[in-house]
Amino acid sequence: MDTHREVVSIRWVITGIVVGVVAGLLLNWAGGESLALFGVVSLGGDLFIRLLRMVIVPLVMTSLISAAAGLDTHHLGRLGSFTFVYYLSTTLFAVALGLAVVNIVQPGVGAALQGAALPEEVATREPPTFADLLRNLIPANPIDALARTDMLQIITFSLVVGIALNLLGERGKTVRLFVDEVLELSMVIVRWVLRLLPIGVALLLMRTVGQAGWEVFLPLARYMGAVLGGLAIHGLLVLPLLVWVLGKTPPWRFFRGVSPALVTALSTSSSSATLPVTMRCVENDLGVPGHISRFCLPIGATVNMDGTALYEAVAAMFIAQAYGISLDLTQQVVVLFTATLAAIGAAGIPSAGLFTMVIVLQAVNLPIEGIGLILAVDRVLDMFRTMVNVEGDAAGAVVMKRLTSGGS
Ligand code: ASP
Repeated sequence: MDTHREVVSIRWVITGIVVGVVAGLLLNWAGGESLALFGVVSLGGDLFIRLLRMVIVPLVMTSLISAAAGLDTHHLGRLGSFTFVYYLSTTLFAVALGLAVVNIVQPGVGAALQGAALPEEVATREPPTFADLLRNLIPANPIDALARTDMLQIITFSLVVGIALNLLGERGKTVRLFVDEVLELSMVIVRWVLRLLPIGVALLLMRTVGQAGWEVFLPLARYMGAVLGGLAIHGLLVLPLLVWVLGKTPPWRFFRGVSPALVTALSTSSSSATLPVTMRCVENDLGVPGHISRFCLPIGATVNMDGTALYEAVAAMFIAQAYGISLDLTQQVVVLFTATLAAIGAAGIPSAGLFTMVIVLQAVNLPIEGIGLILAVDRVLDMFRTMVNVEGDAAGAVVMKRLTSGGS
């Protein structure tokens, strides 16, 4: 098998981006969504995302079972606790960074904005309590969790099965072999899908750019600037520095290896759909051993969302500023923790962060209707925050490789 060869050439992926954006602009200019061509492009994009999603459930399950069954319990505990601390601290840092940026830029002060009507799911949603979050970790019926692609529940179930298999030792070797073979098989499918990446990216970007109403961006330009600026600092400075200092991997090598995953994240706005690509990049191009990436990445794609966390903080503060409500330091500390929780609770699917923001707004008594103010540009911001989410997961895997091995 082609263990260390790039399946998809970066040059082709970049061509896909350029073609997608240029063709999307033309499509937008020619009439956007009303054109029949738009329907064809949209269908093509959907097919690509579905191909990626098709492998997620078997991939996540077999990855985690294989990692938990294959590692000795000491190593597993070490990897688990390091991963937990790393994910939590980088997410908290991202929120703090978002708060710093939004306090400096003050994008909402004096903004005269029109609020859009909220989608029903947001308007009527009760934010989950901590007890709900805890309860939802454990699937009452694993088959049901698999059918609903409930990632958190699938993670819990897979870890429990993996640890049981680990303790079963020799007696579980048939199941272990089966799991490993399903994992290999899923990765073969991922390789096929990856070959379509440049086309998929072009179609998805063409769809997004083709249907964008550019005029809505203007009044929100400063808000977008604050979110994108914060994401740029985190994605281009903080994470590469961590990868360099803690992971001993030069940033250019890291970006080169992980770029297909970043582009997939940008075009799909979904960490989960990107997961197969992230796994492939991290294992093959960045040389992270399978037992580490199989553990860190599925968990990361579900709970580690630095980009979403940063965005939640900026968005909540923007809404406060736009309504003329000032939040003192204590309330901003509440934002720090609730935005972290909201990012952990957000699923790795498009717009998930927008829905979990209700948790942050309610915690500091901000009007939920405020979400209407930022709805118009959320689609675009989702692309970039998902990119940082995926970058954070890959960075975590590289750092864990170094930290848990103690060597290079
Ligand atoms: N789309 C993001 C992701 O999949 C979640 C979000 O909406 O922020 O990572």
